[in-house]
Amino acid sequence: MITREEIHELAQFEDDGACALSFYFQPSTPRNKAHKEEAILIKDLAREALRQLEEKNQSRLKSEAARADLDRIVRVSQELRGNGAHAKAVFACAAKRFWREYDLPAHLSGAQLVVDRHFHLKPLTQLLGSLPSLGIVLLDRHRARLFELRVGELTERMDFFHPLPHRGRSDGFRGYDAGHAERSVADEVRQHFKTVADFVKDALEKGMFDNWMLGCLDIHWPQFAAQLHSYASQKLLGRFTAEVAHVSRDEIRSHAEQLFAESQKKRCDEAVRETLSQARSSARGVTGLRRVLRSLESGEVQTLLVGQSYHAQAVECAGCGHLDAHLVSFCPACGRETREVVDVAEAILPRVIRQDIELFYVDGDSEFDKVGNIAALLRFRSDQNNNSSGNVRPITQAPPNPSVSRRVGRVGRYRGLASG
Ligand SMILES: [Zn+2]
Repeated sequence: MITREEIHELAQFEDDGACALSFYFQPSTPRNKAHKEEAILIKDLAREALRQLEEKNQSRLKSEAARADLDRIVRVSQELRGNGAHAKAVFACAAKRFWREYDLPAHLSGAQLVVDRHFHLKPLTQLLGSLPSLGIVLLDRHRARLFELRVGELTERMDFFHPLPHRGRSDGFRGYDAGHAERSVADEVRQHFKTVADFVKDALEKGMFDNWMLGCLDIHWPQFAAQLHSYASQKLLGRFTAEVAHVSRDEIRSHAEQLFAESQKKRCDEAVRETLSQARSSARGVTGLRRVLRSLESGEVQTLLVGQSYHAQAVECAGCGHLDAHLVSFCPACGRETREVVDVAEAILPRVIRQDIELFYVDGDSEFDKVGNIAALLRFRSDQNNNSSGNVRPITQAPPNPSVSRRVGRVGRYRGLASG
């Protein structure tokens, strides 16, 4: 699986000859009869990519290197066929002798092969943004298990076991000790819940996972909730009913993915409403490509919202990298010549990843549609910060609040994933 550092490396990559290859492949299941069609499709994609590469690259040597890369991509896809367990992404540039290959959760929409100056990162950001690192705690009165769901992989991390105090058959002389034994059990259970609650808080603070979920019987929830630190409560995405000893891994995964999808949808809706409302009052929100590009360049953006099928042209300065929504021939910032950017939503991704900006792809929201399908929620507004005139409302930079910086959906939040 891919690490945060590796995503940053891909985001930085640029090839002036526009020979960067990005390949995404979602294998079909063994019984699927589409295998042959799949093989034909990949070969067609490779042929088209080669044509584009040869068009851009006059050097025969370089063309041969690119052809070797494409052959290798076709071979990789053939080896993967029939393995529905995971998908694959390959990023290659023969001219720069660059080749990276990653396994991904099998949730890609299909095969893609793109040739460009930068790597095509939208499928990756969509996939990883929708799969942050989640802690899943299963709990009962004397046991707790901690799982981690990261980039589609479920791993058990801890198993806490606190044996309840032994209770003899007798409650003592005429039941004299019975009350005492119950109190002692209740104390043990409370202590156990507290240990687990403390552990969850520590794990969140150390960044072991971004958010968490709880699986337990309803009767345990109020008592456990009473032990939770407020920060851990904020990070709790949801709760499902489960018995620690009997729940299967598939059940855990399916509960977690469903709860996560719901919370992600809710968070995205909230971000859209907040951004539009802030934009209406000219505060911490901007809409439209021109204004969003400017905010990205000045480092103001906290959350970026892009329509699922948003597509717009822009130009990019070959010198300073400035992106402009006006299709000007010369860069307004440094005067160098500009070049066309076919898909600006793709061109902004390296910047989004580098700046660790929270990103949501918005689907089917009519209000968002009306403002141009691209918007951003800002951490601050640089134009107003510099303005000392009287009636501007003070907008200060948001403090480094962990509950903000660790929100779900953030493209750059893939620290410490196992590589390989
Ligand atoms: Zn420039």
